[in-house]
Amino acid sequence: MSPSLPRWTPYLITFLSVAAVALLKLAIIRLLGLDSPVLLFFSAIALSAWYGGLRQGLLATLLSAVLILVYLGGLDDVPVNLWALRLFLLFLDGIVISLVCAKMHRESERARRNSERFEKIFASDMIGIVISDLEGHIQEANDYFLNLVGYPRADLAAGRLSWKLMTAPDTLEISLKALREVLTSGSVRPFEKEYVRADGRRVMCSVAATMVNEKQMVGFILDITDAKRAQLAQLSESQIFLDSVVENIPNMIFVKEARSLRFVRFNKAGEELLGTDSDHLLGRSDFDLFPRDQAERFTRADREVLRGGVTVDIPEEPISTPRGPRLLHTKKIPIFDRDGQPQYLLGISEDITEKRSAEDQRLELMKSEMARSGAEKAAQRLAFLTEASAALNRSLDIHAMLNAFARVILREMASTCMIDILDEGGQGFDRLAVTRGGRSGANGAIDSHVVADFQKLALDPAADTGPMPSLRHGRVQLYPLLEEAEVRRALSPCPVQGAALNRHGARSLLVAPILYGTRVLGAITLVAPDGDRQYDELDLSLAQDLAKRAAFAIENASLFNRANEASRAKSAFLANISHEIRTPLGAMIGFAELSLEEGSLNPAQGEFIHRIVKNGQQLLRIVNDVLDLSKVESDRLQVDRVDFSLPRLLDEVMSLLGTQAESKGLTLHLEKAADLPESISTDPLRLRQILINMIGNAIKFTEQGRVDVIATAESSAEAARLHFRIRDTGLGIDEAQARRLFEPFVQADESMARKFGGTGLGLHLSRKLARLLGGEVELESSRPGEGSCFHVSVGVALPAPTAGIATPLKNPTPAAAAAKLKGRLLVVEDSVDNQILIQAFLAGEDLRIDLAGNGREGLEKALAQDYDLILMDIQMPVMDGFEAVSQLRAHGRFGRIVALTAHGMKGDRERCLEQGFNDYLSKPISRQSLVECVRRNLAPAKDQSSAPGLETPPH
Ligand code: ADP
Repeated sequence: MSPSLPRWTPYLITFLSVAAVALLKLAIIRLLGLDSPVLLFFSAIALSAWYGGLRQGLLATLLSAVLILVYLGGLDDVPVNLWALRLFLLFLDGIVISLVCAKMHRESERARRNSERFEKIFASDMIGIVISDLEGHIQEANDYFLNLVGYPRADLAAGRLSWKLMTAPDTLEISLKALREVLTSGSVRPFEKEYVRADGRRVMCSVAATMVNEKQMVGFILDITDAKRAQLAQLSESQIFLDSVVENIPNMIFVKEARSLRFVRFNKAGEELLGTDSDHLLGRSDFDLFPRDQAERFTRADREVLRGGVTVDIPEEPISTPRGPRLLHTKKIPIFDRDGQPQYLLGISEDITEKRSAEDQRLELMKSEMARSGAEKAAQRLAFLTEASAALNRSLDIHAMLNAFARVILREMASTCMIDILDEGGQGFDRLAVTRGGRSGANGAIDSHVVADFQKLALDPAADTGPMPSLRHGRVQLYPLLEEAEVRRALSPCPVQGAALNRHGARSLLVAPILYGTRVLGAITLVAPDGDRQYDELDLSLAQDLAKRAAFAIENASLFNRANEASRAKSAFLANISHEIRTPLGAMIGFAELSLEEGSLNPAQGEFIHRIVKNGQQLLRIVNDVLDLSKVESDRLQVDRVDFSLPRLLDEVMSLLGTQAESKGLTLHLEKAADLPESISTDPLRLRQILINMIGNAIKFTEQGRVDVIATAESSAEAARLHFRIRDTGLGIDEAQARRLFEPFVQADESMARKFGGTGLGLHLSRKLARLLGGEVELESSRPGEGSCFHVSVGVALPAPTAGIATPLKNPTPAAAAAKLKGRLLVVEDSVDNQILIQAFLAGEDLRIDLAGNGREGLEKALAQDYDLILMDIQMPVMDGFEAVSQLRAHGRFGRIVALTAHGMKGDRERCLEQGFNDYLSKPISRQSLVECVRRNLAPAKDQSSAPGLETPPH
């Protein structure tokens, strides 16, 4: 219904149409006599419903029924129920007709409105609308489109227009693609294409399309030429901007065409890098510009980028340029077209040659810096370790050595250094702890004091604190930072010590086991105070290094001590055994001499006994040499300092050896320098021993010719240096022999040993003795077959001239020639042989001799009876000589007592005199020495009351 009609118009139409049908009905009835009332009313109902809708249709039905009943009559002859049926049918038909007509009316209204709208849109001048078939023939188009393409409507009406024909050829492909999309999915979203107008000009359009039905589609076309133009204008502006950006970027920017890989763009930086301008570069490929291998490398990378479709970063790419080889950092980026196909390859290259070489230089610098600081650190560490090693090597005494070692460590890396050394049984350990003086001492100055010095601590097997795990299992321990209580526990098994060490502010500590191989010798504990340092793995490794060095030093020192101990034991054994040999030997020689003196032997017996004495003396000499050697080596040989006459000693030696020389037919000559001192002070026994050895050798190794002894001296006021040159015309010594001459037990060759006998000890001992006397023995010259010259020197003191010679030398007068000795003697001696021998030696004298078998017996006898002289052995069972003498002195017995001592042990003489003896006589006892000793002590001269006489040397 038209919206311009008033609202009540449908009702009017209803009434009028019903009224018109009623009139028509009346006329038909009257004029024709026909009766068809119902059907005619249906047209009125249909008309009312068409115009007004359902309501008006129903109203018309109602009105029609009333009219039929009230006005038209003719129903009188019809039964009531038939009427009712008719009315019902009338109403039913009326409703149906109303519904159908009203619906049709609405539909037609909507169609009319739609068509009106479409017409408007179609006619609008805003967008081109084209209806075409699927081949592209345009069936309908609005004016906008026709104007756009410049064709008249007549061409459209004549069916001459097709959008395919109007499409610009270069956009036909995209248009056909759009068509395919419409056919498959029903529509296509706007895309851009160009139409060629009737006048040949091209118009840029945005086109979208959708299917109308299976045969038709509608296209919507918008002219975007102006927009494009504006966009282009804008684009060219930004293009200029971008161009200038690209041109001015300091990195090389290049673009290659994807298919041919030829350059299509180069910026200024690129031109500069490659040393030529764009004109020369564009259109060329890598192969035109670079050496083949490089070009191949670049091309390979390009292809990879284009194939993979991703950006590739080449951090370092060497390239040859007219400026020489350069190093580039290049990024290659693929650029795609609308269809996702690679179109271009964009490259951005930064010249990193200088940056790289600067970096290299910096790296080099850093490396050398690191190497230098590393070397410095290593040198420092080495210096420290060397110093620590030096401290360890300073002594072979473990205690002194570790103390020095700990002090070095203290200065470098700790405030407290503890060194624990396990004892042999592994049950306990000794602790040395050196510490700096409290917190204030942390500045590096050592103010060390020893907290506990090798204090014996028990090794608690249950404890797992302090050095225990290291001592028991060789474990390293590192505690960078500890609480105070923990420190105390970790420092020591002894709480007092722990507390004392902790006072130094300990916070960080480490324990390194001292390992010799896998054997734990001890542990080093280092402690640093709070804030000083925190130990780390590096410190631990340094401590382990130190511990290793300490282990070697400790092991060496204990090996040395053990070797020393063994050597001392050997020397003591030698001394002991030679003493044991000498005692019976002395007795044998003594008795043999006595037999000779008896004079009751026949000549053959005399000869035999004489040989026994000779061989016995030779054996005694050897034993004495061995004993001397052992004493020298065990440091027990003592030299005396006695004033005596040098010329007399020399004469004595010459007369002793003269017989020997004579028996070989040799000339033995002594040449004394005029300035040779008369009286000297040294050990006459040892000087004599040296000279007898040296002159004895000269005689022994000389078959013919002579032996000369030349004595000279260099004297000052109080001292002199005596020189003895012993020159022979004997075998001589070659160079090889000379080199080993003074080593013990060395003889020139074995055949000589067999021929001449000897032990190879003489020279060694003589040199040792000469050195003890402040001199030397050396081979001055020698020629094999011509002879040798030995030089002996000794340092002596020169006694003040007034003092005179305090000690007389051996009385040259034979004992027999002197007056007989008189007096009462007590001999205290446990050896019956010696008792008999002493008695026999003194048999010719006028002496009364009592005997005692040990100290106690001697003491008893001496207390019971006064003796003029007591000869008392030192080593005796029951009571030794020292004890007996001290008791005698304690009982007020001050008579003279002579000690019978073993062979000159160090300190024997002093000890005897200290303990109350008046003199001493060294064993084995010879008749001569015994008689002299007894004589000396029975009538003691004033000046010799406290000095012992010279006993006969062992030779
Ligand atoms: P011994 O004489 O007991 O063998 P020595 O130590 O006195 O031991 O001498 C060692 C060796 O030196 C002798 O065996 C000998 O070969 C050589 N020798 C020592 N003195 C002389 C000398 N005057 N002439 C030649 N050889 C000598």
